[in-house]
Amino acid sequence: MAGSERITHAAGLALDAAKSHELVVVVSAMDGVTEQLLDLAAAAGDGHGESVQTLLKAIRASHEKTARELSGEAPAQVGGLLNKLDTLAGGILAVGELTPRLADAVVAFGERLSSVMMGVAMRCPALDGQQAGIVTTDHFGEADPLMELCIAGIGKNVRPLLAVGRPMVVAGFIAANQKGVTTTIGRGGSDYTATILGAALKADEIHIWSDVDGLMTADPRVVPTAKLLHTISFAEAVELGKFGAKSMHPRALEPAAAFGVPVRMRSTFKPENPGTLICGAVQPATAGGPSASAVRAVPMLKSLAMITIGGAGMIGRPGTAAAAFDALAVARINVHMICQSVSEAGISIVVSQAQVKKARTALERALLHHQPHGHGGVGGVRTTATGAAENTDHIINSIEVQEDLVVIAVVGGGMKGTPGVAAKVFTAIAEKSVNIIAIAQGSSELSIALAVQADQAKVAVAAIHEAFGI
Ligand code: ASP
Ligand code: MG
Repeated sequence: MAGSERITHAAGLALDAAKSHELVVVVSAMDGVTEQLLDLAAAAGDGHGESVQTLLKAIRASHEKTARELSGEAPAQVGGLLNKLDTLAGGILAVGELTPRLADAVVAFGERLSSVMMGVAMRCPALDGQQAGIVTTDHFGEADPLMELCIAGIGKNVRPLLAVGRPMVVAGFIAANQKGVTTTIGRGGSDYTATILGAALKADEIHIWSDVDGLMTADPRVVPTAKLLHTISFAEAVELGKFGAKSMHPRALEPAAAFGVPVRMRSTFKPENPGTLICGAVQPATAGGPSASAVRAVPMLKSLAMITIGGAGMIGRPGTAAAAFDALAVARINVHMICQSVSEAGISIVVSQAQVKKARTALERALLHHQPHGHGGVGGVRTTATGAAENTDHIINSIEVQEDLVVIAVVGGGMKGTPGVAAKVFTAIAEKSVNIIAIAQGSSELSIALAVQADQAKVAVAAIHEAFGI
């Protein structure tokens, strides 16, 4: 949705598909508009009138231009929406306070506008999330779809249009709570909207179009021989999801997997390519030890840091991990990987580099301050005036941070129950003298995650990719 040319191209692809299938098209906001709207909401809440005017002007200009290019004159609906956005931003500015509910009302305009424009390009009706029947919890900003209600709503609102042979556009990302108040379902949520609709309608396939070819066996900038994955299971795709070039909503595959609707990742730049098909069960390992198919992909996640909390006092003392993760959850820190030594004397937590300061502060507050009755803290250590940790009853005596890390994931459904995969991984990277800082494997046995120093990551990924002959 990066301008009238791309919208016309996407509309053409959609109308082609509509010749042979019943079709619902879900769109996200135009390129960069969600960020502009978030900035707009924040500026209005902070009382920055000038920024509000600048952003409103920019948003108006880009949408009016695109709409005009699509239809000769800007359709009244686009103008009407832009006027409503002006009024809403003006209201927030006047009150000088932004609530999550109002932020959602503002950010929803991105998809409201883009869906109307796609409707113009396809000459078909455009529905917003609520009109399509997508109902969520009240958790503004990251509302959870209420699937039973969605199925009923979509059946009532979308099905009848399909039944008369009309394709339609639905605004992604936005929905409404049970009272009809606008909510959004989290960044990147248009994919999620598509899978909710696809699952509720029992679609033949859900196609997620972006500018990447599909899921790759590794980052091609790191491993030049990386290949496109033609098929992959839902479970494997979930493991790969957060690493891919196209960042998907973390829960986007859930409805599709639950309802057994295959998802295909495709590129609008190469519509003739089938992309990556995500479907069905994990491929079983071939008999007789680790095979080439045991590992499907070796993606990596960059710009990470690891925080290690340590202390002999943690041993055999329930509640330390709970207090640590509770503190991180309250601070809304996303945890990428966790390791605990079996001695229980240390827990390592991998977070984004961008969040590590906040994470450290949250952990220090929860674990280094003495709270006698254990409300939210188990620590017997407090921070002195100089900021150093001072041990008072030896539960935690250190919080250490290691920066510039990369987590490499070794992903493959075939490694489940196949002995020797880890050995092969470790041998491959030991031969390149790469030092492993931490290791994690979930009991699902679909992936092994390794934290290494950023400057050694490339060599390690290439070595694993080669060892498994991917
Ligand atoms: N516009 C929303 C976002 O940028 C949803 C999406 O793009 O899928 O997060
Ligand atoms: Mg977006």
